Amino acid sequence: MSNCVFCDIVAGKAPGRIVYENELSMVVLDIHPYAEGHCLAIPKRHVQWWHELTAEENASLFAAAQVVAKRMMDKLNPEFVCMYARGRRIPHTHIFLIPTQSGDVLDRFFNALENFQESPERLAKLKTPESLDNALHILKEK
Ligand SMILES: [Zn+2]
Repeated sequence: MSNCVFCDIVAGKAPGRIVYENELSMVVLDIHPYAEGHCLAIPKRHVQWWHELTAEENASLFAAAQVVAKRMMDKLNPEFVCMYARGRRIPHTHIFLIPTQSGDVLDRFFNALENFQESPERLAKLKTPESLDNALHILKEK
């Protein structure tokens, strides 16, 4: 066993409910689901952050995520499939794929975040046209 549960699942050394896999990626059910069918899309290579993946790995990972998201839409009938990427608690990048309905746990969480964004002064400053232009300038620079 390695010290990474996702590497162990990829290697077949730990149990994982594998929903789909392609050459470079795998999609498994999350054992702590926020909703029925909540999955994690992971690269087969141990990489902490999704932005450290190769272009080929990224394409593979997002293709795998889309295959499973379409199955979720067909079979679980959510409003949409929420996606976000983490890698902090388990330092092997994993993209959350969560079938979402209006008012469910995740929807309320993101609605709370949106309300949070409205309130604190520090974050409110980020909404000014100057701040947004500054962020645009920073990210557009090559
Ligand atoms: Zn790993």
